[in-house]
Amino acid sequence: MVEDQIIVGLEVHCQLDTKSKLFCGCSTDYRNDGPNTHVCPVCLGLPGAMPVLNKRSIEYAMKVAKALNCTVLNESEFSRKNYFYPDLNKAYQITQYDKPLAEGGYLEIESDKGGEKRVQLTRIHVEEDPGRLVHMGNAERGKYSLVDYNRAGIPLIEIVSEPDMRSPKEARKFLNKLRATLEYLSVFDSEKEGSLRVDANISLKGSERVEVKNITSYKGVEKALTYEVTRQKNLIRRGQRIERETRHFIESTGITQSSRSKEQEHDYRYFPEPDLRPLQVQSWMEGIVLPELPDARRERFITQYGCSLNHARTLTGELKLANFFEKVASADPKGLPLLAATWIADTLIGELNYRSMNLDSVDAAGFTELVCILNKGSITDKSGIEVLRVMLDKHLNNEPVETPAAIIARLHLAKTAGDDSVIITSIEEAITENPKALEDYRAGKSGALNFLVGQVMKKTRGKADPGDVNQLLTEALTKREA
Ligand SMILES: [Zn+2]
Repeated sequence: MVEDQIIVGLEVHCQLDTKSKLFCGCSTDYRNDGPNTHVCPVCLGLPGAMPVLNKRSIEYAMKVAKALNCTVLNESEFSRKNYFYPDLNKAYQITQYDKPLAEGGYLEIESDKGGEKRVQLTRIHVEEDPGRLVHMGNAERGKYSLVDYNRAGIPLIEIVSEPDMRSPKEARKFLNKLRATLEYLSVFDSEKEGSLRVDANISLKGSERVEVKNITSYKGVEKALTYEVTRQKNLIRRGQRIERETRHFIESTGITQSSRSKEQEHDYRYFPEPDLRPLQVQSWMEGIVLPELPDARRERFITQYGCSLNHARTLTGELKLANFFEKVASADPKGLPLLAATWIADTLIGELNYRSMNLDSVDAAGFTELVCILNKGSITDKSGIEVLRVMLDKHLNNEPVETPAAIIARLHLAKTAGDDSVIITSIEEAITENPKALEDYRAGKSGALNFLVGQVMKKTRGKADPGDVNQLLTEALTKREA
């Protein structure tokens, strides 16, 4: 089956990072506080309480609409979506239905086939978040659930894409790009728990569509969709039909499960929210000034610093990473940028992921010092990695900070520059200990030189520069031949 037969569309719910909730003055900064401490009659849905729209949340949503090339409608309106669930105290959610804030637009992502591709958007609408259920014990066999309304009324935007993605990987790229764009706009904090939730529609061409709900992590989207592709392909292979249904993603096991309830759109009995006037905010669009967005910054990194496309893409893929790179590069705008780009994109990110650390734990001054030392050529790349690992491990173990210079001195990692005698001694030893390699070299076997370089690097414990070793070794071998 060819990849083109996978069809994916996403509905992404993002919490807008406002100070107060969408329809009341309650603070949105609830994550470190006890349950039900950020509530009032409005967000508790008590009888007679009236919603008052938070202007800032509409401005944030419009910023997103502008950045994603959407059209803000002349008039949009809030509707009640009626359903009963314990986390929804009013028994309806205030959302937007047939008149959303914005329609159309697109987001450019890197396509699986290389190059950029546009994922068209259907709409962006504004809605309130419901509360949160906390299941005590096992979700399957738990005795009871608790409800926390601190989250009820947090402003959300739902961004709905067209079914334009052709693989689980493209879906992940879409989500990463969307996250970066929202972060650049300063309207979203991806590190806050629960700030992003995704429902994904997936089908194989010619078959029914399946909706996977409740995906709460960036990696989860790719996992859930990959699982679905395999499940659906297997059904087809066995001659079975794919049912149109809603499934839930179980993060801990990485599988999707059919949900028992069959919710249909018309069950929600949408009708216009009588307590809020229609929104006529199209004219605000002119006044919205966008900051530099990921694509523009990526192009600037290529033209200003000479970064490769891949490095520029990686570095601008997260706002913090892009800022970190520019901070390091600014220490020596002529000498450092390319080396800094390589060390951040190719080494630092991997070392951080390996330790489940994030960029906040990296001492920018120390990292800059390390890149400066590498730029001077006073240690080898191999030693550079060793120094970086020591720095990160120290942070991980809550040990006091040690500067790269101190680590290099303590571990005797400085290159044996200017004094080639150590290398020359090692070369002589390596040749004497490996007569077969010498023979092979004389017979013109190309692998022999690399083998000997490896032996010398081992003897000098990686402190010698591979370029120097290569040169000195070639000289030594030529001498012996003569
Ligand atoms: Zn409230």
